[in-house]
Amino acid sequence: CCQVMANPVLRDGKVMGAVVVILDITEREERENLRREFTANVSHELKTPLTSISGFAEIIQNGIVKQEDIPRFAGNIYLESQRLISLVDDILNLSRLDEGEVPLKWEAINLLALAEDVAARLKSTAKKNGVVLTVSGERTEISGVRSIVDEMVYNLCDNAVKYNRKNGRISIAVQKTAEGVSLTVADTGIGIPTADLDRVFERFYRVDKSHSKEIGGTGLGLSIVKHGAAYHNARVTLESTEGVGTAVTLIFPNIPT
Ligand code: ADP
Repeated sequence: CCQVMANPVLRDGKVMGAVVVILDITEREERENLRREFTANVSHELKTPLTSISGFAEIIQNGIVKQEDIPRFAGNIYLESQRLISLVDDILNLSRLDEGEVPLKWEAINLLALAEDVAARLKSTAKKNGVVLTVSGERTEISGVRSIVDEMVYNLCDNAVKYNRKNGRISIAVQKTAEGVSLTVADTGIGIPTADLDRVFERFYRVDKSHSKEIGGTGLGLSIVKHGAAYHNARVTLESTEGVGTAVTLIFPNIPT
């Protein structure tokens, strides 16, 4: 676990003693391993859409594709590029949190107003699947960095839309509790199998890779939620039943009075 460094202390050329420094390198090694794993995952995740983009573009360029198939190929290139953009956005957000390089503009945030704003942005996507979104609760303020809290709430609501069933429901509720201000996003979606519950907050972890690809996940959304929560001293809980739905709650500390 440890790295021991011994430096001799000299006086008039004679060794008088030694200064021994014991460093705990476990944490450093763990961080290094995580970084290596993350880089390997990122490279893999970036390479997949890039390979299809370059493949589709090459076929079009070579003139192998029939004229009437070109829009479909162009559509694939567009979708894969969109996937790359959201992946790069997520990676940048995560690394900003990791490095602690977040612009530290803490401010009072009305959590209910923020949730209403996120819901408005997702309404049309939800509507396409007949999913109804409702926001309710108290107009309560928390202290936080707006862009991060927005990203966290957006990711939770986006998941509730993506993993919902046709004509499902999503309720977002903001409440004042003794512990702090809570925001719960509950959906009537496909739920998460018990065996995967512990792992969904890991970077790039997806319960069903092929299904997630179809609906455009990066596997980084909940990881951003976890890191953002830690940044705000907030607590995250997740409850889910397969085939019934999922509820994720964030509890932010009360603003000291
Ligand atoms: P993704 O970009 O794939 O949605 P996340 O980190 O946000 O990545 O979520 C990780 C995985 O957890 C998802 O791929 C999905 O399998 C599962 N998941 C997250 N939220 C929900 C939800 N509300 N309902 C069902 N499954 C979910």
